[in-house]
Parts: sequence; C-alpha cells; structure tokens
Amino acid sequence: MISETTYVTALFLWMGLAVVIFPVLLKITVPYGRHTTSTWGPTISNKLGWFVMELPAVAIFSWFFFTGPVEKTIPLYIFYGTFTLHYLNRMIAFPLRMKDKGKRMPLAIVGLAIFFNIFNGFFNGYWFGYLTPAYENSWLLEPKFIAGAVLLLAGMLINTTSDQKLLSLRKGGRKGYYIPYGGMFTYVSSPNLLGEILEWLGWAMMSWCLPSFSFALWTMANLIPRALDHHRWYRKRFPDYPKERKAIIPFIL
Ligand code: NDP
Repeated sequence: MISETTYVTALFLWMGLAVVIFPVLLKITVPYGRHTTSTWGPTISNKLGWFVMELPAVAIFSWFFFTGPVEKTIPLYIFYGTFTLHYLNRMIAFPLRMKDKGKRMPLAIVGLAIFFNIFNGFFNGYWFGYLTPAYENSWLLEPKFIAGAVLLLAGMLINTTSDQKLLSLRKGGRKGYYIPYGGMFTYVSSPNLLGEILEWLGWAMMSWCLPSFSFALWTMANLIPRALDHHRWYRKRFPDYPKERKAIIPFIL
C-alpha cells in the first residue's frame, strides 16, 4: 500500500504537470478530429482509438475502487457511477455514433491519452478505494454535494446534446464540416468541451477532494486550448461564421 504522504506528493507533481502542459497546448494544435495530420507518425482507426484510449480510465479506476478497504457508501457509488457512465459513453456510444468515414488518428495521441487516463484513473481510484476518509450517507445533503451534482448534470447534458448536434450535421451521408447552430452553439464554438469542463468541476465539488480537483484542472488544461483551436479553425474556414460567438466561455473567451 502507498502511504498518504507519497500519494499526496505524487498528486501535487501531477497537478504541476497540468500547469506546465497548459501553455504548451496553447502553442500546438493536437492532431485528431478536424486537426488530424500525417506528421505525427503511424495512425489507428478513429473509433478504435477512442475505445483504446479511454479504456484504462474505467479499468484502473474500477480496480482500485473495488479492491480498496474503504467502506463503499452511497456517495462513493455515485462518484464511481458518474465517472464510469461518462467513460462508457466516451469509449463505446460516442465512437459508434461518429460518422467519420474511416478517419484515423495518430497512435501518438492514443499513447498520450492512455498516459493521462492511467494516472487520472489511478489517482482517483486509489483515493476513493484506499485513502479517503469515510463519506457518510449524510454527505448527500451537503450544499457542496448538491451544487456539484447540479453542475455535473448540467455539464453532462450540455456535453452530450452538443456532441449529438455535431454528429447530426453529417446526417443522410453528408460529408465534411458545417457551421453548427442552436442550443449552446449560439454562444460558443465548442459547447461539448464546455460541458465536459462543467461536468468535472461539478464532480470535484460533489466529492470535494484533491484528486477530483486535479481531474477538473487537467480537463481545463486540455480542453481550453482545444476549444481555442476549434474556434480559430471555424473562423478561418467559414467567412460567414457568427462573429459574436466565443470559443468556450459565453460572452468572455
Ligand atoms: P469535436 O467537437 O472536434 O468533434 C466531435 C465529433 O463531431 C467528431 O465526430 C467530429 O468529426 C464531429 N464534428 C465536429 N465539428 C463538426 C462540424 N462542424 N461539422 C461536422 N461534424 C463535426 O470534439 P473533440 O474531438 O475535440 O472531442 C470529442 C469529445 O471528447 C467531446 O465531448 C470532448 O469533451 C471529449 N474530450 C475530452 C477530453 C478530456 O480531456 N476530458 C479530451 C478530448 C476530448 P471529426 O472527428 O471528423 O472532426
């Protein structure tokens, strides 16, 4: 068993890495989806890539969560259930619904995502399975749990409905890219990424512990630069792109 001191030291280093990576991601465009290039080496099918890169998150979180001695109360099952539900959607339902006509992504991206998911799955699974102080069932009535749950559900709704809107742009065998309209697309170019950030901020508030905040921090470090890349790409590609639309934070960024 890892001591709490070792675990917390490693977790701070992990969070420090997110802070270092954020400005790097602001400078480079990560090549998957619309930004795919052949300059990042060998590639793998997009759909298989999503499955393989998200699998370690669920597998490692589940392993440590269930093998650890911490008593599993209802709040803990809610943290586990919402994390797993998100990843099952991302690794199975989302790729199956993608209309990507055999698109591929660099293996290097899959490798980087696996690296992230191994560490994130470990830090959260180990905390909730082995180290956390007990969450009594009365935690469900804590204001931070309730506020976090509302944020998590709102984030999930924004994320999944926006992903669905994007996927439906290629209905009827249409290919290529179109300007999405309606819903949160009225305000931002990447409401799916905004929804994902709100989700993990909500999850962190509900559980109120350092590893879940580290996940929210990493999500922001990853997705804010990606949303800025998407936004620049839309403006360059579509001369009639709505001028008032922001990248990821309505009216602000
Ligand atoms: P995108 O918005 O780039 O793409 C989502 C899907 O919609 C893809 O199939 C894409 O096709 C298609 N699509 C996007 N825009 C258009 C358009 N204008 N016209 C037609 N089709 C379009 O999302 P990402 O790939 O950046 O992310 C996908 C999901 O994964 C998001 O929900 C995101 O939150 C999540 N994610 C989470 C991360 C984390 O750190 N937690 C990291 C990365 C992603 P195509 O692939 O051909 O571009």
